[in-house]
Amino acid sequence: MKILVFIQVDDNKINRMSLETLACAQSLNANVTAITFNEDAANELKKYQLDKIILAKNEKLNSYNPLNYTKSLEQLNDGSYKAILFAHTYETRDWVPRLSVRFNCAFISDCTEIKNENNSLVITRQTYQGKINNDLESNSQLLCSIQSACYKTDNLVNGNTQVDTIEINLDGIPSIIRSEEKFKEQKGGVDLTAADIIVSIGRGISKEENIPMAEELKDLLNAELGSSRPIVDYGWLPHDRQIGSSGQVVNPKLYFSLGVSGAIQHQVGMKGSDKIMAINKDSNAPIFEIADYAVVGDLLEIVPKLINKIKE
Ligand code: FAD
Repeated sequence: MKILVFIQVDDNKINRMSLETLACAQSLNANVTAITFNEDAANELKKYQLDKIILAKNEKLNSYNPLNYTKSLEQLNDGSYKAILFAHTYETRDWVPRLSVRFNCAFISDCTEIKNENNSLVITRQTYQGKINNDLESNSQLLCSIQSACYKTDNLVNGNTQVDTIEINLDGIPSIIRSEEKFKEQKGGVDLTAADIIVSIGRGISKEENIPMAEELKDLLNAELGSSRPIVDYGWLPHDRQIGSSGQVVNPKLYFSLGVSGAIQHQVGMKGSDKIMAINKDSNAPIFEIADYAVVGDLLEIVPKLINKIKE
């Protein structure tokens, strides 16, 4: 089985989710080819165990343009790949549907797992806000995007792979799309991605006056404070504290959540954490599905006791 992985590059660096996607492909017991439009990225990829690295070259590929990207993949896909995998980024959401029309094949987006079962791919994606997992199978070529934090870059298998450079012809593509400077969600904000421990508060904190209690805990643990989206929407914390699909994606050693339900949009931002500890008074809260330590109870009673214990 042959799998092609598209490697997205942002600010001359390989996108972290693209490396997770590569780890997904390597887990499939398949011949994996990585394709990139960036020479530095191609050289960096050499250290991984791959069948091939394709560097697709044309100076028009130095910046994002969905028409040029689509045309390039059209020239490189010989139809032999069982699946072409992408990280589920905003760029992917923009240009891969176009590719799916060109190839006349399905685009299965935001997949959480891909398995190779008897040389057939079984693709899992969630529906109904993460309440149901659907397994999909297809005999024809597929395009799939992989959700953030479903695979770990620590699992990438090292090797020594050569780069094949292929010149791409992009003549005749109408210049109707012009790249502007990339949108950056935050300037000078807190970088939660570097934190070893994060204490994260959700709507269960109940009122703004209870936030100092969570702050005391995070100081005692030498942690950073994060939150779910409602806390930011209420204006209780700035947006740079928000974790999730429209906030930061973090992977600390310990993620300590207080009164967070664990909606899918929150989970995609934190489920790559090494250890997850959750306090929630609802034993059916989705956060407990991914927690390593689950404390069912009222955080307003538990956290003050925990603070006292740590101080002792
Ligand atoms: P709730 O879902 O209301 O959960 C509160 C939890 O606290 C409950 O589980 C409850 O049992 C528990 N609780 C209540 N009182 C106590 C107590 N005293 N002690 C212990 N537990 C208690 N959300 C994000 O977080 N990040 C995002 O980036 C994000 N992006 C989104 C993007 C889109 C396009 C959409 C549609 C939604 C997005 N959301 C995001 C919102 C997301 O769907 C959820 O609504 C949100 O994560 C819920 O936040 P919460 O867990 O704090 O609140």
